[in-house]
Amino acid sequence: MTGLAAPSRDGRFGEFGGQYVPETLVPACQELERAFHEAWSDPAFRGELTRLQREYAGRPSILTECHNLGRRLGIRLILKREDLNHTGSHKINNVLGQALLARRMGKQRFIAETGAGQHGVASATAAALLGLTCKVYMGAVDVERQALNVFRMRLLGAEVEAAQSGSRTLKDAVNEAMRDWVASVEHSYYCIGSVMGPHPYPFMVRQFQSIIGDEAREQMRELTGRDPDVVTACVGGGSNAIGIFSGFVDTNARLVGVEPAGGAAVGRGVPGVVHGMKSFLLQDEEGQVQEAHSISAGLDYPGVGPEHSYLSSSGRAEYPSVTDAEVIEGFQLLSRTEGIIPALECAHVVAWIAREAPNMQGKTVLMNLSGRGDKDVAQMMNVLGPRLDAERH
Ligand SMILES: *Cc1c(COP(=O)(O)O)cnc(C)c1O
Repeated sequence: MTGLAAPSRDGRFGEFGGQYVPETLVPACQELERAFHEAWSDPAFRGELTRLQREYAGRPSILTECHNLGRRLGIRLILKREDLNHTGSHKINNVLGQALLARRMGKQRFIAETGAGQHGVASATAAALLGLTCKVYMGAVDVERQALNVFRMRLLGAEVEAAQSGSRTLKDAVNEAMRDWVASVEHSYYCIGSVMGPHPYPFMVRQFQSIIGDEAREQMRELTGRDPDVVTACVGGGSNAIGIFSGFVDTNARLVGVEPAGGAAVGRGVPGVVHGMKSFLLQDEEGQVQEAHSISAGLDYPGVGPEHSYLSSSGRAEYPSVTDAEVIEGFQLLSRTEGIIPALECAHVVAWIAREAPNMQGKTVLMNLSGRGDKDVAQMMNVLGPRLDAERH
């Protein structure tokens, strides 16, 4: 059970969160909140979710101790292997929960929006399994950049709609998905991919991801006989990080969420309102939302889940950032020392651990490996290929 507190009745973590939506969406958010609370306290729903997590997603995910890299860095390094889940990341934990909830609510249509395509693929997967029709909104620019994921979604039976408005990227896809939801809420369910958006999403997605922390806490005690000194994960919207933090927030562990330098919403942002929530947000002097830039498309978002803004403000968690150059080194470091190719998102965490190791000598560090790197190898071949060629001479 998570050690994190529930939000207030109006969906706030401290001053963050809330429900900043147009009038037309208030009833939909309220219906969702009621349905989630009922489902979450219903043993039949929880039992069905547990069964899918085991028999479909492959849970529990294992712990792997990194003896080689740990020795090199002078720390005890342990990975929580969310990369071994079906579809290759932690995202399946959330979409299975929301797809089951959609079916329970009698909604036949599953709507999602996606940037790099990972949440779209996970949503299309869960919809295929549970017999829901699925529509995925994606910025037109991203549709072109992510042709392989677009094909995956179509193969799984989903319809992919290219958002043609604005900058034709993720934030435009979010707007179009919201518009669709307003118009079709009677038979449609909107599946958000991280601990973001209006209440109850940040709370609900956290509960679905808290399985990571629940498992890891038990597994760490079995493996090491105690709680870790440091628990760390990458932060895009913040769902994999909150999932693992939830198991350790009531211990003495240092909680560290690693952001990309070009999208450090907690580190460099100011409080603002976007996509239905109040949270730290990258803004310019006029209060316009700034574009985020990261080598990893999955972390390329100007905002962050409201509970991370709260954990940062209260001092319970810290949010350092790493540069793209450090990420490239981290990507190769874990591959070469442990034979594990991480997702670029997770390479951020490897990079932070390598940088911080001199200050963590002898400590036990638990890292959430949120996804595998298969999706990133083509991109990294362009970056690292010439270096590997040079090594041969
Ligand atoms: C999508 C994704 C992320 C970023 O999402 P969070 O909500 O911050 O967890 C991180 N890692 C992987 C592997 C992802 O696919």
